[in-house]
Amino acid sequence: MKYLANDLGYYGEFGGAFIPEMLQPNVDALKACYKEIIDSYEFKQEFIDLLKNYVGRPSPLYFAKRLSEHYGTKIYLKREDLNHTGSHKVNNTIGQILLAKKMGKKRIIAETGAGQHGVATATVCALMDLECVVYMGATDIERQMPNVKRMEMLGATVIPAESGNKTLKDATNEALRDWINNPEDTYYLIGSVVGPHPYPEIVAKFQSIISEEIGWQLDEQIGRTAPDYIIACVGGGSNAAGVFYHYLDDENVKLIAVEASGLGIKTNETAATMACGDVGFIHGSKTLLMQDGDGQIIEPYSISAGLDYPGIGPFHANLFKTGRAKYIDATDREALDAAYLLTKIEGIIPALESAHALAALEKLSFKPNDVVVVNISGRGDKDMDTYIKNIVSSHWSLNRPLT
Ligand SMILES: *Cc1c(COP(=O)(O)O)cnc(C)c1O
Repeated sequence: MKYLANDLGYYGEFGGAFIPEMLQPNVDALKACYKEIIDSYEFKQEFIDLLKNYVGRPSPLYFAKRLSEHYGTKIYLKREDLNHTGSHKVNNTIGQILLAKKMGKKRIIAETGAGQHGVATATVCALMDLECVVYMGATDIERQMPNVKRMEMLGATVIPAESGNKTLKDATNEALRDWINNPEDTYYLIGSVVGPHPYPEIVAKFQSIISEEIGWQLDEQIGRTAPDYIIACVGGGSNAAGVFYHYLDDENVKLIAVEASGLGIKTNETAATMACGDVGFIHGSKTLLMQDGDGQIIEPYSISAGLDYPGIGPFHANLFKTGRAKYIDATDREALDAAYLLTKIEGIIPALESAHALAALEKLSFKPNDVVVVNISGRGDKDMDTYIKNIVSSHWSLNRPLT
């Protein structure tokens, strides 16, 4: 348990709750009751039932034969892309919506960058008949119109954040302002292992279903419960936290997290927090982030909207600092090529985010008998425009035979 949060929400030196005084009562109210609720028998039953019958869990653990041959090792894909709404994000929104309901909340607010978390939140609000307000940067609204329409069809109100760069950070500020003004009836549903304590802990716990399943699925298929490697992409870090969770204390399992380095870590167009960031405060917690000399947050860049985040959750900052997990990065180009490869030889179009995890297969060397689990955090439908636009310039042209 040494890599999980302590009672004050610290992972080593990272985490805590650094919030404006006006927000303190809201966070205190959540802190006072979340443990008892999510550890209760009734809650667990409802959570498991929805994951099974609504989300479609367990997600398959698929032995990717051709990909394994290609890399000369044994590769298993954890298929979070097959979940309802197309990614791992729904595991968390299901958990938090049940928590909000049990707390007697009537109104849900969320922030979203690319719109994926907004869609997952609007989905569970429709399911539970709760009012849903999603804050989204005005720039992001223009870039991600299909997700805006999905949220609206699901009954959510999407409010544009017009300050700053009009992206995720600004949407977060608006959501926090809303929460301060509506402490009684409103629940703030955060989408990754970020934010003030106890959010990172709550989100990691809900996502831990991913590694819980891998344990028995591997056992069923090959008679062992732990792989040699687990690879996941990291934006804020929730899918990686979920797929690492039950293996944190098993130091024989090598944990590999892949950040998006955009055009490259030496350019300014990157989202590789570990490679380029240092200690600071973002989204209510002490963690690692990309900032300039004056502590101003640097706008991140990645081809994949879900990894385009200037910080990383405190859970990961600690795994990085202690060396428990290794943080590497993949560029836009490397991720695109990994996505074309998986599509071509396994018939699976991954989300661009997940393609960063797949790109790591090129950078590591495995033994033939190593068992490698790659978390496919989402499906690629939302990324089709980008894939089509970039395929011409790719050496994975559609007709070229594999060498
Ligand atoms: C949002 C998203 C991510 C990044 O978020 P994490 O919290 O780092 O997991 C990764 N993959 C997909 C498909 C996403 O939608």
